[in-house]
Amino acid sequence: MSKTALEELKKVIQVNPYLTLESIRSESFIFEKRVRLNCFYCTKYNTKWTCPPRIPEFDYKAIIEEYQNIAILKYERVFKKEEFDLIRNQSTNDVHRMLLKLEKYLYEHNDSLAISFIGGSCKLCKNGCAKDKCNNPGMARIPLEATGVNVIKSLDNIGIKIEFPLINKFYRFGLIAW
Ligand code: SF4
Repeated sequence: MSKTALEELKKVIQVNPYLTLESIRSESFIFEKRVRLNCFYCTKYNTKWTCPPRIPEFDYKAIIEEYQNIAILKYERVFKKEEFDLIRNQSTNDVHRMLLKLEKYLYEHNDSLAISFIGGSCKLCKNGCAKDKCNNPGMARIPLEATGVNVIKSLDNIGIKIEFPLINKFYRFGLIAW
């Protein structure tokens, strides 16, 4: 089902012109401890239920290696300076909701352990993260970068080059594994 599944998933994402899906192998992912250090300095540190330090200290590298099929969901959009904040928010939810759709597709096609990692911190709740516990534990997902993946270096391994600062193109990257 795997290769066919990727083609089918590519059809699912077609409704959003900013999204593409690229296959990637688990060996392409580079995990670095300094990525988690960056989380500590994020303004959202300890405020999101799906970001450090509130996520379980699983061996995420081992988890990703358990999947035979992995694809990167790429969001790429040209932006004007004044649109930056809007697109920043919209893109996280566009990627997040599409990844949930892809999980659902896979579940309905006999891949019950398909899972996704989002790009950027979870923004499903309009009024911010809930205080006592996650409002949507079934829908909230962990950002790829929060697992310790150096996203930029890993994507470079499959020919996707991202340079900072972003000048006029905005990107988000999520992952679907099955
Ligand atoms: S679903 Fe809501 S409460 Fe849960 S992590 Fe996302 S924003 Fe926070």
